[in-house]
Amino acid sequence: MGTTPDGDRTLPPDHLEELLEIVACPKCKGEVRYDEKENVFVCDACRLKYPVIDGIPDFLIEDAESF
Ligand SMILES: [Zn+2]
Repeated sequence: MGTTPDGDRTLPPDHLEELLEIVACPKCKGEVRYDEKENVFVCDACRLKYPVIDGIPDFLIEDAESF
């Protein structure tokens, strides 16, 4: 107990809050939100999901997944 598994790649909440203040969707420059379940950043306006890879959000439109 007390240790987190190595496989946990979701973002720590304090880091996340900071991130959400500075990040924007590269396509529409609008706000994005973080989906904890899928571990992705979501732009509802563009309907795009940006992956988080090893704790680092990947805001490349070419890597985004549409939904
Ligand atoms: Zn967008």
